[in-house]
Amino acid sequence: MTRQPLIFREISALRRAVAQWRAAGETIALVPTMGALHAGHISLVKASRAHATRCVVSIFVNPTQFAPNEDFSAYPRTFEADLAKLAEIGCDGCFAPTAAEMYPQGFSTQVIPGGPALAGLEDRFRPDHFAGVAQVVAKLLNQAQADAAFFGEKDFQQLAVIRRMAADLDIPTQIYGVPTLREPDGLAMSSRNVYLSAGERAAAVTLSQVLCESAEAIRGGAAVASVLSRAEEKIAAAGFALDYFEARNAASLAPAASLADGPIRLLVAAKLGKTRLIDNWAV
Ligand code: AMP
Repeated sequence: MTRQPLIFREISALRRAVAQWRAAGETIALVPTMGALHAGHISLVKASRAHATRCVVSIFVNPTQFAPNEDFSAYPRTFEADLAKLAEIGCDGCFAPTAAEMYPQGFSTQVIPGGPALAGLEDRFRPDHFAGVAQVVAKLLNQAQADAAFFGEKDFQQLAVIRRMAADLDIPTQIYGVPTLREPDGLAMSSRNVYLSAGERAAAVTLSQVLCESAEAIRGGAAVASVLSRAEEKIAAAGFALDYFEARNAASLAPAASLADGPIRLLVAAKLGKTRLIDNWAV
């Protein structure tokens, strides 16, 4: 049985619905997305059900987190198909504001995240990206006033940036991370996977394979530095242009030289043709 979600175009309409739900004793979850929904996004909606009785998915391709040379205009926009997926899962609301609703004339406030946003990794290759993410997520959390918000571990550094920002700005929404949903061959689901040609799609599986075997090697006692350089070679051999393949402390994102220093997360970003893919793996 499908149930059409309520569609909110304006912040005031979203707030009214949330206030009515809360007055009726319900709890509210927010799942921020840029649309082009796939099963990974839907897994966030499912995860929210353990923590809230209502779920709102926001769909907004946020211009402030894209650099001028990135894929803002080309980013897949599939609103009707997204709504059908939300109806199928029984999602309560879809907040889909226009850019003018989010950034009206005169808008001029920046949110400049520190800590994990300055840890290197994505920040080294997308220097203004996390400022755009922090700006839009701070707004979405304030707009929805949800009890809980759900983000994917797929964007591991982003999740750390959002947790830090919500804590630092005293935003009273509980932030939850949800494990990455993968295709049957291991490729992390992503809205950007539609950019891949058939040949690139076949090669893309290398990222998760190398992450998985590198994690196993480190768990088995191999030296981190040698595992990383072997991983870099394999990813390059599969035709990727590598941005980074790094081992970081899973909590602080500080560079990790050995498991003795705490739990390690392996993180990778690499381009196949024009498509930039990111992924990560717990050791
Ligand atoms: P996006 O629409 O790509 O901005 O992603 C919206 C949210 O979905 C973010 O919190 C992502 O981390 C999360 N997400 C994206 N891909 C996946 C995936 N494969 N599994 C779980 N969560 C995901």
